Amino acid sequence: MICSTERQLELAMRSAEAEAAYRHCARKDYLERTDCAGGDSSLAFAEQAVAEAEIRSTQARLALDEHRAFCPFCSRANLN
Ligand SMILES: [Zn+2]
Repeated sequence: MICSTERQLELAMRSAEAEAAYRHCARKDYLERTDCAGGDSSLAFAEQAVAEAEIRSTQARLALDEHRAFCPFCSRANLN
């Protein structure tokens, strides 16, 4: 059995990972268009957006792991 909290946490993790992937692409895209206007501040912003998205993604994964370890429903499901 998987509880509704588990489902919510999984959804949050997936959206955080999608966000991180998107930010990586945006940064890569920016680096490939180095001739475009914007300057270092735009790159710094892209780098920061990647870092923040990575942190959110990691936190979401940890929250899910923690939930699975302590939730009476999910921890029992993991034993099987
Ligand atoms: Zn649970």
